[in-house]
Amino acid sequence: MKKISIIFITLTLLFTVTIQGQNKKYEGEESSYQNKDFYEVQTFGHKFKSKRPKNVILMIGDGMGVAHVFAGSTANRGELYLNNFKHVGFSRTQSANRYVTDSGAGGTAIATGHKANNSSVGVDAEGNAVPSIMAVAKKNKLATGIVVTTSLLDATPADFVSHQPSRKMMPEIAADFVDAGPDLFIGGGIEHFRNREDGRNLLDELREKGYQVFDTITEVEKVKEGKLAGFLKEGRISQRGDQLERTTAVALDILDDHKKGFFLMVEQSEIDGGGHDNDMQYTVEEMLDFDKTIGKVLEFAEKDGRTLVIVTADHETGGLTLVGGDVETGEVRGRFSTGGHTGNMVPVFAYGPGAEFFTGIDENTSFFNKLVKVLRLKQ
Ligand code: MG
Ligand code: ZN
Repeated sequence: MKKISIIFITLTLLFTVTIQGQNKKYEGEESSYQNKDFYEVQTFGHKFKSKRPKNVILMIGDGMGVAHVFAGSTANRGELYLNNFKHVGFSRTQSANRYVTDSGAGGTAIATGHKANNSSVGVDAEGNAVPSIMAVAKKNKLATGIVVTTSLLDATPADFVSHQPSRKMMPEIAADFVDAGPDLFIGGGIEHFRNREDGRNLLDELREKGYQVFDTITEVEKVKEGKLAGFLKEGRISQRGDQLERTTAVALDILDDHKKGFFLMVEQSEIDGGGHDNDMQYTVEEMLDFDKTIGKVLEFAEKDGRTLVIVTADHETGGLTLVGGDVETGEVRGRFSTGGHTGNMVPVFAYGPGAEFFTGIDENTSFFNKLVKVLRLKQ
């Protein structure tokens, strides 16, 4: 009898410790950030030169939920370039087979208008290759571009150019990049273009197709026209600095020359990383880096007058809750509830001609159809 009691008590204790351990991991710890690098935010006008856009710049903050946006806002003492947007809505992010999506399925829905299974890129739930808004834009003679802060072969950019059952198929996705042929792309992942098991050197193939191929930001910044494949550092803002702002400026400079208009996708890939790491510094710095890039894009769009800018996310990461902060001092404290993604709705911000279509609550698949309509594209 004594033995059984001891076993029972031990099991109860073990069980309690395990439960508390789980709670401690995601409910007990707080992560804080004190901003020291504040920036001034400009206000932009809302008078445009046309009712329909000629150009579209779609900006995706990977993992950016409402709390991530407001953490950035708090850290920059209440100011964000995002505050300029007057058309705001929400996007539902559920995938074809999961309540909680990954970037593969989330980005595929945005890019193609089809719900997809988690982990897949550019294919619908049955595995059929489906054209992305970028492919449709190209077919309609618009110029196209992709700028990201992580590998070009990551799920989000892959969703716009590739059709593979798994986001892990990096060599195949790299080959799809060459086939899809966006006019420019800037990001990481050069290794899958040159050190390949199939013996192909995709960098040479790109050069043969007329691309200027570079692997430093100084060289990339010298390009003013033509096709460009720019391979740069990936990862956190602490290592890559103001790269996204600079590469986006290069992309706009090149694409702007195109008479028929352009479609550009810009991804701030690493807000997601901050969420996965449950790290407020990481999250907020990536968020503010994204916002500064949004500022550059708005500057272009205001001046151009025919450019629609959409800012959204593929999903929320980290289940972030803001538990404290100070808008006067730029301090913000958060608590994460998971190391993964969540099923939360994500924000949608739109500026420019056609922005009024991107309000309310809608499925993530709606971006494709609205963009086809607003740009009057033939499919
Ligand atoms: Mg991504
Ligand atoms: Zn993620």
